[in-house]
Amino acid sequence: MHPFTYTKAADTREALNAARRGGRYIAGGTTLVDLMRETVERPSSLVDISALPLREVTVTKSGGLRIGALVTMAEAAAHPKVRTLYPVISQALELSASAQLRNMATIGGNIMQRTRCTYFRDVTADCNKREPGSGCAALHGFNRAHAILGTSGECVATHPSDVAVAFAALEATVHLLGPDGERRVPFADFLLRPGSTPQREQAVRQGELITAVEIPALPRPLRSGYLKVRDRQSYEFALTSAAVALHVRGGVIQEAKVAAGGVGTVPWKLPAVELHLVGERSSESLWAAAAERAAEGARPLTHNGFKAELLKRTVERQLRTVGGTK
Ligand code: SF4
Repeated sequence: MHPFTYTKAADTREALNAARRGGRYIAGGTTLVDLMRETVERPSSLVDISALPLREVTVTKSGGLRIGALVTMAEAAAHPKVRTLYPVISQALELSASAQLRNMATIGGNIMQRTRCTYFRDVTADCNKREPGSGCAALHGFNRAHAILGTSGECVATHPSDVAVAFAALEATVHLLGPDGERRVPFADFLLRPGSTPQREQAVRQGELITAVEIPALPRPLRSGYLKVRDRQSYEFALTSAAVALHVRGGVIQEAKVAAGGVGTVPWKLPAVELHLVGERSSESLWAAAAERAAEGARPLTHNGFKAELLKRTVERQLRTVGGTK
């Protein structure tokens, strides 16, 4: 591990000042410390933000939900408002990592986490994300777990977060505070596709702090849920996943929010699936026909061709689970 300095910020102003001098924020540390141990990340200065007052879950005036950036994954998953208003978020969190990690890791850290591509974490391998311009070992290496959507010739790594898939489906907004004040970024613009700059993963400016993630109010009743398909049933990343939320009135689907994980370089919103559902009556044939559109545009690699079909089946199954047939 490379030497670094450590400061614990007492308040937001102190944190922003320390970050302005080049410090990196750390809270739960469940990703960053691992990466520092492996020398993938080599920050010279850490700013501990765990004492900042960003640990509340509140219902917004419009009936949405605001989850503070320092709410832990376990706290968010167990929060009564999260459980009742957006079960898809609770389920995505509970299917993530391990209980120990969920007790430490925060919502802000979760959406800032870096890819689990094994070549990224192996400092002897070529990796454009870690070392821009060095190449991508995964392109012609073992890429079974890699992305089939949103890839570029520079990087094909998936985004690892489960709850980010739920946030993408629900069209959340990320609240940021920086030297120039506050701003809000739609979740669809927050996580960046690799393009020609895979080292840039989030739309966060130098020194900016995530303060909260806000979920918009959606029409009620809203049924939602998360399905994760993986090689083993615990402590494993998704091969595919589906976050689904449906508002059904009089038997007709009025609103559909659907996104997929494990397949894209970012959580993958599925507008074609959503469009196929809205205005229709739920039925077995509807779920299958809508899910058929889930893998549109997919570009499989040597070892992950199975993901396109698995994605369609994952989406179909979760539409059926959430929507039923009545
Ligand atoms: Fe690096 Fe991305 Fe290639 Fe993995 S897929 S080796 S993260 S450039």
